[in-house]
Amino acid sequence: MTSTLLPKTEYGAAARFLSTSKKLLIDGEWVNAASGKTFETIDPATENKLADIALGGVEDIDRAVTAARKALEQSPWSRMTPSERQRILHRLGDLILENADELAWLESLDNGKPVSVAKVADIPLTADLFHYMAAQIRVLTGDVVPVSDIAVPGAEFHAYTLREPVGVVGLITPWNYPLLIAAGWQMAACLAAGNTVVLKPSEVTPLSILRFGELALEAGIPPGVINIVPGFGADAGARLSSHPDVDKIGFTGSTRTGRGILKAVADSNLKKVTLELGGKSPDIIMDDADLDVAIPGAAEGIFFNHGQCCCAGSRLYVQEKIYDRVVAGISDYAKTIRLGSGQDPNTQMGPLVSQNQENTVLGYIRSGLEEGAELTAGGRKVGDKGFFVEPTVFVNANRNMKMVREEIFGPVLSIERFTDLNDLVRKANDTEYGLGAGIWTTDLSNAHKVAKAIRSGTVFINCYNVFDAAMPFGGYKQSGWGRNRGKEAFEAYTETKAVYVRLDGIHHTSFACR
Ligand code: NAD
Repeated sequence: MTSTLLPKTEYGAAARFLSTSKKLLIDGEWVNAASGKTFETIDPATENKLADIALGGVEDIDRAVTAARKALEQSPWSRMTPSERQRILHRLGDLILENADELAWLESLDNGKPVSVAKVADIPLTADLFHYMAAQIRVLTGDVVPVSDIAVPGAEFHAYTLREPVGVVGLITPWNYPLLIAAGWQMAACLAAGNTVVLKPSEVTPLSILRFGELALEAGIPPGVINIVPGFGADAGARLSSHPDVDKIGFTGSTRTGRGILKAVADSNLKKVTLELGGKSPDIIMDDADLDVAIPGAAEGIFFNHGQCCCAGSRLYVQEKIYDRVVAGISDYAKTIRLGSGQDPNTQMGPLVSQNQENTVLGYIRSGLEEGAELTAGGRKVGDKGFFVEPTVFVNANRNMKMVREEIFGPVLSIERFTDLNDLVRKANDTEYGLGAGIWTTDLSNAHKVAKAIRSGTVFINCYNVFDAAMPFGGYKQSGWGRNRGKEAFEAYTETKAVYVRLDGIHHTSFACR
């Protein structure tokens, strides 16, 4: 393991923003929390404070929901033509790109990921989602539907569907891709469909989304359409999910929190829900795979973003014949990953996001050892400051182990063997989750057979962690409800209204029209 834990000396492109006070965005204004309280956000590489953030609570969520309702009903947003709304969202996408350096620095400082990764992944993907969803406004429409006269014999109808905004949407988001998930995955589709938003971002990484709030106002988003209230899950998040005047919750986070949100929704106003939850995704290397591609590909499938990807390929299944070679290759790869501060250009993997996350990951590593798995790389914390954990590889793992069954959300891979396709599919599907899966093979027929047999929302063949604004993303089983991204996301933030127009005069002749 090469370690380059450099002290941080400057904040680069994010310096200006860090020197300003961080308030809540409610009704187009930056305001203090009603309680006057703040909380700290820290740099996970140094554990130094980055900024004080206004701490949103129940009263602030209520104010934000009122503002979002008013904007939905009275602001120009709901009356805007599609081309006007498209122009604003497109401009917002452009502003994200124009400010990419600053946003990437903020993401790196707050989350720990390398600036270089945020620059090529988080920021451009966020901008692309705004550009994509802005375009959807013009092409996703209702339908004209031919209807029969069974309900009203002899009658003639012109019938059509309308796609309307769901209303006021509460978004609750995690810390692993703070801007990309909150703004890109969730907000872009929601706004394109004409909704207004109250966002409760993760309390662990609030910086980039607050800067995004400034850009949204600059782009011309009217007051109250986007409200951003950083705060803790137990009060701000819980209030948003149980609020009687919120029409939908878009949630991305753990399966456990998702379950709690469903209970709050059921006990309040039965608002609509989209859930993007946890994963424990299988990655598969068949014995005909091109190992020069598959070994680094599978290693990046788990270690990218420090293993803090919801669809990280955390369970690797390797066919018997190539098992030893793959274990050696992946373990060597893990040992050469350069750990360090996200602002050091040499860093390949930054710290985990928080002390909590470090404790969780080290706890899973301990449990793997206690249950008899064997380490072939990593397994330790690195350094005295910051939440650095080595890229870790376990062999002799099996389905009964806690670290194989549960989502770790860190740089920890377990490797198991498989014999044939039946054995593989059984093992790969042996999980309560169903978010992602990877297959490395040169056999086209096997690739498609396995892709079909695996119960997950996304399958990567000879690649991993590929995302595109136009492709839907979401989970089977306990990995979630509904889809983000793609036209499916836009549709999920609309209600469909059916309109019947009777054309042949008014005859009260049937049960349907009496
Ligand atoms: P988390 O569930 O702890 O928190 C997510 C959000 O929920 C945060 O904003 C948090 O403040 C809020 N929250 C916590 N308790 C709440 C409550 N009682 N009521 C309302 N809101 C509450 O998740 P995390 O640790 O921030 O993120 C990691 C998890 O997110 C992992 O499980 C990961 O798989 C999942 N994730 C899923 C996807 C996906 O698309 N499926 C994407 C990214 C992350």
